[in-house]
Amino acid sequence: MDKTLRVVEIFHSLQGESSRAGRPCAFVRLAGCNLSCAWCDTGYALDPGAGRELSLGLIIEALRPYRAGLAEITGGEPLLQAATPELAARLAREGYEVLVETNGSLDISLIPYPAARIMDLKTPSSGMSARNRLENLAYLRRGDEVKFVIADRGDYEWAGALVRSSFYPAALVTTLLSPAGGRLPPAELAGWMLDDKLAARFNPQLHRLIWPERDRGA
Ligand code: SF4
Repeated sequence: MDKTLRVVEIFHSLQGESSRAGRPCAFVRLAGCNLSCAWCDTGYALDPGAGRELSLGLIIEALRPYRAGLAEITGGEPLLQAATPELAARLAREGYEVLVETNGSLDISLIPYPAARIMDLKTPSSGMSARNRLENLAYLRRGDEVKFVIADRGDYEWAGALVRSSFYPAALVTTLLSPAGGRLPPAELAGWMLDDKLAARFNPQLHRLIWPERDRGA
């Protein structure tokens, strides 16, 4: 029997973040999260009972009409559900370039190649930085990306120290710094990055620039 996942929504949009920003993408948003970040913008996906149970086959069929080359599994926290790695593998076999967005608090080595991991490292202002699973840094592969949401100077300095540390795999991954919406002016973060010559990519939420009135997005 086909495995199932609890799905909050399946939709087609432009990829709003990461080095793939701007590309059409099919999204699968899964239910449930084990964290409670101060600036979470997907509160509707946090309940593990949200949405509905769908077989992996039905999820793959639901994505087909979008004819997207890129597919992202997001949440909530996708790794809370046991069938997520299998969905990533099956989507890759279907020919998608697959991204799995994860909060970095669980074991990312479960996400199979060739899916790319977009892994958050939770900054102090999230209230969740004690939940970062730093062992995951050793599992990152070329093509993976690490994202920091920056709400203030303290977050920025915390992220900079980590990115410059000897155990951060700077040569393998793309490092993304995102200004926290409504909390840090984007120009301020951009200025800090330039002054510091930090080897990172400024990561605005493109979908919020295009569709500021939407309360849900990529
Ligand atoms: S990890 Fe993501 S989905 Fe979970 S509470 Fe934090 S921001 Fe929200």
